[in-house]
Amino acid sequence: MSNIAFIGLGNMGGPMAVNLIKKGHHVMGFDLSEEALKILVSEGGQAAESAVAACKDADVVISMLPSGKHVADLYSEEFISSLKPNTLLIDSSTIDAVTARTVAELAVSKGCRMIDAPVSGGTAGAQAGTLTFIVGGKQEDYEKARPILKCMGQNIFHAGESGAGQVAKICNNMLLAIHMIGTSEAINLGVKHGLNPQILSEIMQKSSGKNWSLDVYNPYPGVMENAPASRNYSGGFAVDLMTKDLGLAAEAGLETKTSTPLGNTALNLYRMWSESGNGKTDFSSIIQFLNRDL
Ligand code: NAD
Repeated sequence: MSNIAFIGLGNMGGPMAVNLIKKGHHVMGFDLSEEALKILVSEGGQAAESAVAACKDADVVISMLPSGKHVADLYSEEFISSLKPNTLLIDSSTIDAVTARTVAELAVSKGCRMIDAPVSGGTAGAQAGTLTFIVGGKQEDYEKARPILKCMGQNIFHAGESGAGQVAKICNNMLLAIHMIGTSEAINLGVKHGLNPQILSEIMQKSSGKNWSLDVYNPYPGVMENAPASRNYSGGFAVDLMTKDLGLAAEAGLETKTSTPLGNTALNLYRMWSESGNGKTDFSSIIQFLNRDL
């Protein structure tokens, strides 16, 4: 069993750390939120006063932070130099590939190993331990990380070299935003024509419109008991985080001169929704942007 330091115990990191504890690992966590640390301790983990303190005896460091800036700030030269040689660093945050590669190069230059391992599967997947991990990095580091990632996820993919996990992740999230908006539009249209959203959703799930948003994350309140839509769009994947991911996809498109017209439209819709004060709500709340009655 490993000594694991877990930095960033929010909606995703909190339950991921708990799954590591359940599988017998020793987890020392750090988060800026006292509340997040209290939850970790109540689940059998230990709370540290700083990221450096959390990593003191760690064989593995996992980070689950909001954005590239947070990740770059954490993996400073000073921080990495304080780690044991050969420590395996796993960043599971969704960030830009350039930052992922930069911090990994720094880690390697200081005698550590590092992979980017962003996830898909949402907070429900984090709680159930069924996340999909999309890894970028060296084959040997991927092999070393696999048993740890298996404690938190079901599907573990090796996308390629350092940064490749992040590229695959933003491609996925751009598609997710597009089908969430499409699903919202379709349900909204049906409801405006008098259809029951539950029945319409079931019809589309068995027809060619079937997609993940319909299957596990229905945006219409009351259709799916466990979806954020049925708890006032709280506790899922925040609009601001989706807006960030769509911004990363747009940047990646610019870098390679790739057209992403639907991704760019999705970015604009999410940005407007965030600017109107909805940044902290779950991203399926975009249906309210299309239907102000909800
Ligand atoms: P969150 O905001 O709930 O959690 C982030 C946590 O990081 C917070 O608890 C915050 O206090 C902590 N934090 C921020 N700066 C810190 C620092 N310097 N040191 C220690 N802790 C710090 O976000 P989340 O939903 O858990 O998402 C985390 C990452 O996972 C993001 O990159 C997001 O894009 C990605 N992601 C989220 C989901 C989802 O459904 N929520 C799904 C897949 C990927």
